[in-house]
Amino acid sequence: MLKPEELTDRSTDQTMKMFAGPDPDEYSKCVHCGFCLEVCPTYQQLSDENHSPRGRVFLIKQVAEGTLPLEAAEDPVFACLDCRACETVCPSGVPVGHLIEMSRGQIHDVRTQAQKQSRRERWMLRGLFSHPRRLRLAGGLLRFYQLSGLRRAARAVGALKLLPRHLQEIEAGLPTVPSRRSDFSLPLPVPAPSDHRSTQPVRVGLLTGCVMDVLFADVNDATVRVIARNHMTVVVPKGQVCCGALHVHAGDREEAQALARRNIDEFLGSQVDFVVTNSAGCGAAMKEYGDLLRDDPVYREKAQAFSAVVRDISEILVEQGFDAPAGRLDRQVTYHDACHLCHAQRIREQPRQLLTAIEGVDLIEMPDSERCCGSAGVYNLTHPDMARQLLDRKITDIPEQASAVVMGNPGCMIQIRAGLAAHGRSTTVLHTVQLLDMAYQAEMAEAQASSAPKR
Ligand code: SF4
Ligand code: SF4
Repeated sequence: MLKPEELTDRSTDQTMKMFAGPDPDEYSKCVHCGFCLEVCPTYQQLSDENHSPRGRVFLIKQVAEGTLPLEAAEDPVFACLDCRACETVCPSGVPVGHLIEMSRGQIHDVRTQAQKQSRRERWMLRGLFSHPRRLRLAGGLLRFYQLSGLRRAARAVGALKLLPRHLQEIEAGLPTVPSRRSDFSLPLPVPAPSDHRSTQPVRVGLLTGCVMDVLFADVNDATVRVIARNHMTVVVPKGQVCCGALHVHAGDREEAQALARRNIDEFLGSQVDFVVTNSAGCGAAMKEYGDLLRDDPVYREKAQAFSAVVRDISEILVEQGFDAPAGRLDRQVTYHDACHLCHAQRIREQPRQLLTAIEGVDLIEMPDSERCCGSAGVYNLTHPDMARQLLDRKITDIPEQASAVVMGNPGCMIQIRAGLAAHGRSTTVLHTVQLLDMAYQAEMAEAQASSAPKR
């Protein structure tokens, strides 16, 4: 079990505000073989070397060596999805995602100093996502808009047509904001007794996530039930904040570090064995806190200890040995591999193991399931044309006979919902843990039915 160490001042050393930039040892690994080209979604769409992994790494190298101005790399670096598909196939182990993030950090510093950073982006990241209460308030306003008749009125008078097309599609695909957050003020479920374990239940801390908590509270509820059903104790540290993934993607590493320090203190202080998340993007970011805080003498070791115990929900269930549900669900489903689950965390088999353990579930693999859907953090807002092209391809790949498309990331859930709605498809979008939870609920219903007195 993790022990809380001395919880020290979270303030950042002022000297750490400028970031070193990409590491020569990382970009020098590239041997220009080009194996990465055919898996890169932006290169597939544009056939432009500057928008390929190899091209981006070369631009980053040129900037670092002073043969190219930083601004010349800005567009290709920010047009990258940070999906890391290139890393999966790279024989030299070039950490393209990390290079891109470090390069964005460098560009972000210059932009901030020159006061060029988009006000909207800064407001969204620092003013909204960094503050759980404000995010919940925004969720409440969105719910009011969705249910008060405002949305119906806006549609009736065609007001939404004034929005750019990508915002219209996202608006149409957003789920109805639940009336409450995940209700963790109630006593959390007690783990089911286990007949195959004699030790104390494993204690996990759940990261509720900013988007997941506001838009998909039902996924968090299902996650808690499934963890408890599988003999583990769940705690939800109250002071947790956004994981900082969106900030890292945007190049705002300073704010991401501040958020990481808060989460490290909250979770280590809760004495958990594991930190569990149901969001691929959050899991990937938290597994890299050790790197994010590597230059922080106070937090370096704590960050490494924290990252070592981060698990995706599918990962912890398989690792700890989940109970196959006895409930049956007769449906055909397909699975979309979220980039930050398959490429960043190398988690491919575990979600499929959970799905195929459900009796009656027929998993139909979709073509190129690991290709990005275009969500990629806030990429669908910053690069709507490319995001839409990738979303259209993803929707076309979803087999018609599947009644649900299952995935493990809230950003993909929003994006694919929007795409399905735009294409007039009725396929349901579910998180992996929701389908598993439905099977456990069916198990309980069947057990109750069989124990009911016969008439
Ligand atoms: S696959 Fe790796 S080594 Fe080859 S060009 Fe791409 S990044 Fe460079
Ligand atoms: S991270 Fe994705 S979009 Fe970026 S270079 Fe690699 S494959 Fe292309």
